[in-house]
Amino acid sequence: MGGYFSDLFSGTKSLLDGMWVTLKEFPKRPVTLSYPHESLKMYARYRGHIELIGDEENKPNCVVCGMCERACPSGCIHLAGEKPEGGKKKVLTSYTLDFTTCSLCGSCVESCNFDAIRFSNEYNLASTRKEDFIIDLLKRLEEQDK
Ligand code: SF4
Ligand code: SF4
Repeated sequence: MGGYFSDLFSGTKSLLDGMWVTLKEFPKRPVTLSYPHESLKMYARYRGHIELIGDEENKPNCVVCGMCERACPSGCIHLAGEKPEGGKKKVLTSYTLDFTTCSLCGSCVESCNFDAIRFSNEYNLASTRKEDFIIDLLKRLEEQDK
């Protein structure tokens, strides 16, 4: 009989302890988000995959020097450019990132002297398809809101 009352007491106490914790946390601001309906604001130092930086028309700052491609230890970057007829400078025609082998080391960003690439805030990258991690960064830049 003594065991019954002691179990009843400890069970009730445990229940009240749990409810007290819930009550204490209830008025606090939630630390979780309603994913995927809400997005996280990432910290300035967060490293998502790299992205191209463009002007107000979303034209890339890239001058096709190729330094980032050469600096990448994993061979993730493939870019190309061409001189338009009558033009003096090369224009970027493609910039592809293979994010499957990127270690986010930052060598590419450091090697760029033209403020043309940076780490993005992208964190929403879950996929079961490898192709989803081969990213056309030029297309991504062109499709960004101006
Ligand atoms: S280093 Fe900068 S300017 Fe040169 S190709 Fe890479 S992104 Fe373009
Ligand atoms: S962060 Fe490093 S591994 Fe990733 S693309 Fe840049 S240089 Fe390559």
